Amino acid sequence: MATNKTFTMLKPDAVENGHVGNIIQMITDAGFKIKAMKYTRLSEDQAKKFYDVHAERPFYGELVEYMTSGPIFAAILEKENAVTDFRTLIGATDPSDAEEGTIRKAYAESKAKNAVHGSDSDENAQIEGEFHFSASEIF
Ligand code: UDP
Ligand code: MG
Repeated sequence: MATNKTFTMLKPDAVENGHVGNIIQMITDAGFKIKAMKYTRLSEDQAKKFYDVHAERPFYGELVEYMTSGPIFAAILEKENAVTDFRTLIGATDPSDAEEGTIRKAYAESKAKNAVHGSDSDENAQIEGEFHFSASEIF
């Protein structure tokens, strides 16, 4: 059954390049409500665990290195059809394939440094949200 929450991270390149304010504006303009948010930096163990599904992919090592290279914003977002609508808002993994008007089209540097994470299913949205937030941090 579809839920109304998704999980996002504004990745190190978005923070480093000063795009966080504009990205949050795009997210709230699209109708998402912020249920939880924190500014944090992933440890190597956390990044490895978060991206464990990609452990066998050739880009895994670089992905972990990049995701631990600087601070991120992690957030739980709420909206009807949150997972699907947020994937539409962020656009394709590779910004050169992303539609006009998407966050990655506007702000991603490359396929690896692509500004923003979005959960790919309701199940993963819940797992990823719980990975980063305790119940008392969700509003
Ligand atoms: N990634 C990469 N090279 C690739 C594919 C993915 O560096 O060829 C990175 C990129 O940062 C991406 C993340 O790994 O966002 C997770 O990949 P996934 O296929 O889940 O893409 P997403 O769901 O983020 O669009
Ligand atoms: Mg993914």
